[in-house]
Amino acid sequence: MAMSCDHPDLLPLEEALRRLWEALPTPHLPELRAERDDPATDRASMDGIALKASEGRAPRRVLGTLFAGSDPAAFSLTSGTAVRIMTGAALPLGADAIVPVEQLESADGMALPTIDPAAGDHVRPRGEQARGGDLLLAADTPLNAARVALQAQEGRPLPARTRLRVGVASTGDELVPTPAPHQIRDSNGPMLAALAHILGAEVELRSALPDDPAALAAALQHPGDIRILLTSGGVSMGDHDHLPAVLRDLGATILFHRIRLKPGKPMLAALLGDLLVLGLPGNPVSAYLNALLFLPQAMARLEGRSAPDPWRRARLTAPVKHKGDRPLLHPCRLVEGRLEPLPGKGSADLITLAKADGFAWIEQGGLEAGAKTRWLPVV
Ligand code: AMP
Ligand code: MG
Repeated sequence: MAMSCDHPDLLPLEEALRRLWEALPTPHLPELRAERDDPATDRASMDGIALKASEGRAPRRVLGTLFAGSDPAAFSLTSGTAVRIMTGAALPLGADAIVPVEQLESADGMALPTIDPAAGDHVRPRGEQARGGDLLLAADTPLNAARVALQAQEGRPLPARTRLRVGVASTGDELVPTPAPHQIRDSNGPMLAALAHILGAEVELRSALPDDPAALAAALQHPGDIRILLTSGGVSMGDHDHLPAVLRDLGATILFHRIRLKPGKPMLAALLGDLLVLGLPGNPVSAYLNALLFLPQAMARLEGRSAPDPWRRARLTAPVKHKGDRPLLHPCRLVEGRLEPLPGKGSADLITLAKADGFAWIEQGGLEAGAKTRWLPVV
């Protein structure tokens, strides 16, 4: 079947994510080298006794105990002796093996191995992991919690643990706290603030902005102490969709505007000086999905982490029809590991959004029941 493309000007999602990634600064992470041998001494890897393996099962007189952190110089083994030792403790002089507690008996105050020990048993030898000076992490290796542990082990400065500050501001003259029938409450603002908070940002939820270019410009020029501003609304083709023009007039770099996604086409991203503006569409499902796709990407980049991959894969329990050429994100419930499509009413359908466990990716032509597809879990 020939696929038509009604939207040749729209940017594919992956390309938009890539542009955002490349446009944002990321911390430079210097290479990490081992400060010293790892471990720096031979260490016990079990609780037991440290002894000389060549003396076999001969009874040992126990001289004392070494704990993790004890100075091993306190003991020196001679023939027929051993030292009780705990996991992580450095081996005393003269010892070359550990016999674990489980393989020991005691009689007349002596420790008796019940097995024939071999040199090196249950010992982590000095330098087993790395030699002093070895390269542990190449420069600019993305951070994760495990790599932070490695930096801590090597006594290197730790990354700042400040949270990214994210501002949230809805736009629209229709948004009021006590709505008349022709007005609505701001539901996007609290939704996006909750999402940013869950993703680990420090969030500032602001009052909604009017559909007024001067007011929008003032808010963008004085964003306060935030790194990312999430707006919703005002980026589409309506007479009151001022945000793209206001950003351009302020000299912002538009990274992209309008992407190949349903819902969520009007999505905009721009850099205004250091401030990243994610201009989310006003419809709640569109705003939610684009925030879920673009905010983690931006945060990871700014924090020096790897690009996130939010997608999972599962089979559909029922077919989803889709004629349009923009890939569709269709709301689903997760039932025993399979995606059950929900009868959604589109991008304004906040009630279905609140029922969904995730959104299935449906390309043009739709998918049959049982087809496997990627899907985006809700947060
Ligand atoms: P817009 O993109 O500004 O044209 O808005 C698209 C639709 O989303 C309109 O029906 C708006 O009323 C609605 N909308 C915009 N902002 C919000 C918001 N913060 N909360 C709930 N609905 C909104
Ligand atoms: Mg609007």
